[in-house]
Amino acid sequence: MSENPVQHLLQAFNYISRCVQTQLARFILRSDQPPASAQKDNLLTSLSSYSVGAFHPETLQKQKPSGPTTREDLGRATWTFLHTLAAQYPEKPTRQQKKDVKELMAILSRMYPCKECADHFREVLIATPVQAGSHDEFSHWLCHVHNVVNRSLGKLTFPCERVDARWGKLECENRACDLQGAASIDVANDAHKRR
Ligand code: FAD
Repeated sequence: MSENPVQHLLQAFNYISRCVQTQLARFILRSDQPPASAQKDNLLTSLSSYSVGAFHPETLQKQKPSGPTTREDLGRATWTFLHTLAAQYPEKPTRQQKKDVKELMAILSRMYPCKECADHFREVLIATPVQAGSHDEFSHWLCHVHNVVNRSLGKLTFPCERVDARWGKLECENRACDLQGAASIDVANDAHKRR
């Protein structure tokens, strides 16, 4: 026999893994609130290509049926990311961190995947340049520009004095959610410039 026995083993493992994934998905969907049948088919199809981690009941509950991401979904996700970043932004940011958030906003205003939004946000940034000297400065600046967007869409504005209460710091042990870009990067950059 010229075939590699390890290959047979791998094929068998893949086959068993696919069966287990499909059965697990069926089991979890049966024991959860069953979604509408069309959604269930969609979910099963997409689940069969996921890793086993995707079958965790909590993950499944959070998964919304597949479909195109709307402009609203994208907006909410992006604001969540930005306000969470602001919540984690340090009281005394390093030069690198200040530079990074400014660049991030500039990149967002060029690459945000909604042309009208990106164009508008570029104008907002010109009228209100990023302020990122401290945690308070950055989170209030972000709240302000989010309100500029809210106003342009005819939405209510958010009271910025409550921004820290709305977007509290992440709960992470051992400072695992701290932002990267610590002083060592500044030192490395300075050394690079001196060369
Ligand atoms: P969102 O505005 O997405 O807000 C999410 C949550 O943040 C709210 O539920 C509230 O709890 C909280 N929140 C609201 N305001 C503030 C604030 N000022 N500070 C802190 N927290 C707040 N959509 C368009 O149609 N046209 C655009 O031009 C456009 N430009 C955008 C530019 C950017 C950079 C981004 C990130 C999004 C843009 N969007 C745009 C999307 C739009 O802002 C909303 O995200 C989307 O309409 C969904 O709105 P929402 O009412 O669910 O809440």
